[in-house]
This record gives sequence, structure tokens and C-alpha cells, in this order.
Amino acid sequence: MTIDDSRESPQNTEIEASQLMFNQATASTNPPKSPLILIVDDDMFMRKILVRYLERESYQVVEAADGMEALKVYQETSPDMILLDAMMPILDGFECCSQLQELPNGDHVPVLIITALEDRESVDRAYAVGASDYVTKPIHWAVLRQRVRRLLDQANLRQQLEDTNKQLENANEQLAVVVRELQRLVSIDGLTQVANRRCLDEYLEQECRRSQREKSPISLVLCDIDFFKNYNDNYGHQQGDLCLQEVASAISKATNRPADLVARYGGEEFAIILPNTDAEGALNVAIRANAIVQTLQLPHSHSTVSPYVTISCGVATVSVDHFLATDLLKGADRALYMAKADGRNCVRQMTLNATPHK
Ligand code: GH3
Ligand code: MG
Ligand code: MG
Repeated sequence: MTIDDSRESPQNTEIEASQLMFNQATASTNPPKSPLILIVDDDMFMRKILVRYLERESYQVVEAADGMEALKVYQETSPDMILLDAMMPILDGFECCSQLQELPNGDHVPVLIITALEDRESVDRAYAVGASDYVTKPIHWAVLRQRVRRLLDQANLRQQLEDTNKQLENANEQLAVVVRELQRLVSIDGLTQVANRRCLDEYLEQECRRSQREKSPISLVLCDIDFFKNYNDNYGHQQGDLCLQEVASAISKATNRPADLVARYGGEEFAIILPNTDAEGALNVAIRANAIVQTLQLPHSHSTVSPYVTISCGVATVSVDHFLATDLLKGADRALYMAKADGRNCVRQMTLNATPHK
């Protein structure tokens, strides 16, 4: 193997001992920053020249004498780049490069193939097996220097891009968690942890539209705590808040289906939206809610209907083609008024099937 004398070669260039020492000193003070290059060539003479040249360029180097050894050294040292002779016994450079693609990160590490001939077949083969670039022998040292630098720069940029992508993915995941939590917070009533009024309005509109599309009934129950002003006045506002939390949780237990929604309608009033539920089913839910609240046995010595906290419920059901969510609300409100008028701690019902909106 010869080196074209007309080109700059390490043999022609006088490498002074002081220069070598300087490079070694630089490498030892800052070793992690200096990229590691694996040099693979069966020609020991050529290998040594490459080693000297690249060390002089401040790279760290490891060597392998054939393709098999190269794969082993690659796995042991994880180099930043590989300089790979094409023509070698046992496992040539092309086959070695091809097998390298299967190893961890093997398809990311830049491979510069050194071919003896610039014939089209060798060049095509080099790219086909996954090489990043090639140089020909005899080596043009200035070209080699630039190609090594460029490939390392590209690999660095690629790594930075991957790191940035990973950071972005992580940030996106964190953002999704925050967005989910915000969505939860904007639809939840802070005190009682059931859905808030905003959520109730949206869901009622949505389910009323679905009910008309699918021609299925929909029901609404309004629950109102009896004599709650008296409760607050006598037990204090804080105790009143605790009572609201207990009642909200009790009313939630009265529903069974995933589509049912319990929400705080305002003050001491709660609403239960019951999609695809007829009058009889809705009446049962309201009776259950009333009963569960009674079983809490929250003392209320200032109620005239019971020694415990009770609720009155108004139920409305629609099963006509054209109606508005407000019709359902008005119907449930009227039924609730009837329950209050009939002495409280009871359930009253309205069925809306006349004078639908067109
Ligand atoms: P009725 O049996 O007719 O429903 O009588 P009521 O006293 O329950 O009804 P009224 O509308 O007169 O009073 C409701 C009370 O609910 C008044 C208010 O102090 C109380 N209230 C509304 N929101 C809250 C709240 O967030 N916390 C507490 N502690 N009390 C509330
Ligand atoms: Mg009220
Ligand atoms: Mg009340």
C-alpha cells in the first residue's frame, strides 16, 4: 500500500515531538470532547498511518485488523465514527458495514469506507450497505480530514436533534397531563367535587340533541336540600359546606349508568341528567337519591319535616321530537316546586309531551 507522494501525507509532514505532546496534553485535559474513531484495515502499515494522522487531528482512535474484530471493538468501545477499509480478508468492509447496521446504534454511527478503486460498483455497494461516505486510496489527506469532520458534525447534529425531539416529547406528555387536569378543574365544582354548572349546561345541551336525533327519552332530576337556610343559620356555614359535600356524594350514589351525570346546579341544588331514561326510570333514581340522603342521618333539628337532612326532588322527562334543554329544566323546576309545596322530603314528576317547539 502506498500513499500518493504528491499529496500531503503524515510521512511527508514532519510531526514534531513537541506537537505530538501538545495534542496528547490537549486530549488528556479534555478527553470526553475528543471523538473516538475506529480504524479498520488489515494493512498494519496503513492503519498506523491513519492512527497517527487522526491522533494529530486530536481524535481518539481504536483499531481493528479485520471486519470481525471491528464488530467486536465497536461493541466494546462505541466509537463516534468508523473508518473502514473495503478490501479485507475474513469479513470485508462491505459485509462488516452491513452487519454493523444490526448492532445497537449501528445504523447511526457514521461509516467512511476506504476503497482502493473508485469504480461505480464499489461506490454503489458502499452506500447500499449503509456507509455514510467513501474515500479512495491513495488517500487524499485533506479530503479525508474534511469528510471525517463533516460526518462527525452531521452525527452530532443528528444526536442533538434526537435529544431535542425527546425533550419535546417529554414536554408534550407533561402538557397533556396539565391540560387533562385543567379540563377536569374547569368542569368540577370545587366544594362538592361533582360536575359544575358549566359542565351541566354543556352536557344537557349535548344529550338533548342526541335524544332528539336518536328519538330516545331524556330525564332531568333537580334535588334541593330542605330548609338549608335554617341549617346554615344554626350549624354555621362551614358545617353547611360539609353537609353539601355529603349530600352531593349521596346523590351520586343514586345513579348507575356511565352516561348519567350529577352536577351542582347552584347553591344547595343538584341536578341529575339521565340520558336515554324514561319517566319511570327517572322516578326511581330520584326516589333512590331521596332515600340515600335520608340514610346519611345528618342531624337537622331545624327542619320541620325530619330530624335529619332531607331533599326534595323534581323529575322531568321528554320524549318528543322537538324540545329545548330549557324545557326540561323548566319542567324539573316546576316538579320541584310541587314537591316543596306538598311538604318537602318527597319526589314529584312532570312529563313533557305536549306543545313541542318546532
Ligand atoms: P327550601 O326547603 O324551600 O329549599 O328552603 P331552603 O332554606 O333550603 O332554601 P333557600 O333558597 O331559602 O336557602 C338556600 C340556602 O342555601 C341559602 C344559602 O345560605 C345556602 N347555600 C347556598 N350555597 C351554599 C354554599 O355553597 N354553602 C353553604 N354552606 N350554604 C349555601
Ligand atoms: Mg334552593
Ligand atoms: Mg332548599
